Amino acid sequence: MLAWVQPDGSWWLNNAGVVTGGDGCIVIDTCATEQRTRRFLDAVGTATGDAPIRMAVNTHQHGDHSYGNSLLPDATVIIGHEAMRDGLLVDPIIDGCPPVWTPVPDWGGVTRRVPAITLRSELTVFAGDRRVELRHPGSPAHTTGDVVAWLPEERVLFSGDLIFHGLTPLVFMGSLEGALRSLDWMAAFEPAHVVPGHGPLLDAATLPDVLGAHERYYRLILDTAESGRRAGLSPLEAARACDLGEFAGWADSERLVLNLHRAYLDAAGGGELDLLQAFVDAMAYNGGPLPTSV
Ligand SMILES: [Zn+2]
Repeated sequence: MLAWVQPDGSWWLNNAGVVTGGDGCIVIDTCATEQRTRRFLDAVGTATGDAPIRMAVNTHQHGDHSYGNSLLPDATVIIGHEAMRDGLLVDPIIDGCPPVWTPVPDWGGVTRRVPAITLRSELTVFAGDRRVELRHPGSPAHTTGDVVAWLPEERVLFSGDLIFHGLTPLVFMGSLEGALRSLDWMAAFEPAHVVPGHGPLLDAATLPDVLGAHERYYRLILDTAESGRRAGLSPLEAARACDLGEFAGWADSERLVLNLHRAYLDAAGGGELDLLQAFVDAMAYNGGPLPTSV
């Protein structure tokens, strides 16, 4: 088993991994760009003795975890949540990244490749006799199609972006309430090791603090949205009035604006988020395009 951690975990720099067993392996997520995915797959080949990649799991639809799918061998079966597949099918950013980030990411030679097998709640796959349980948290959280990969024998949890370790969580395409519930849901696995979607690896000793920080952050978003709505502030105005306190030092702090857009929308009854407006506001909050090193 290998966890692939890309520092510093900020925009487009995800974690991934591979599970070996029998005469093949299962990849958990790919990367955003051709260059980064090739680097990851080279490491997978070295770590596994070039074992065939029989399956690949996408923990959710976002491009930092899925654009590299097309660089996997043709024979690799890709698996993801049904909503993840739907989301990647209509993802506009893979066709050309808008100048929301600076520098504008160069995806290289990747093309849209969606799962051939989907799940709605759970599916168990095997690498040889090594069991990998794919589980959906039961409601929208980071996105509408999140999946974690749980290895019960090894007690390892690949959480996808249900956990951002040491940087700002993002829930604008999911749900604050669902993200809150997913924290207890993940804790109940009692993992010995966790590979978060972004940031350094976690173990049983560090997980409670990290989940606790997520909970406090999500509650800050909900409180800020509630008081902002009452005061007639827009999400951007509410963000500017918000004291991030202990979270001010987290990278990608402008996600506050994106997360508030979600909280406002859900408080008003839910629906489709205006992604463009949310990003325009996030750039206004940040004073320019969002920094990335991809
Ligand atoms: Zn991600």
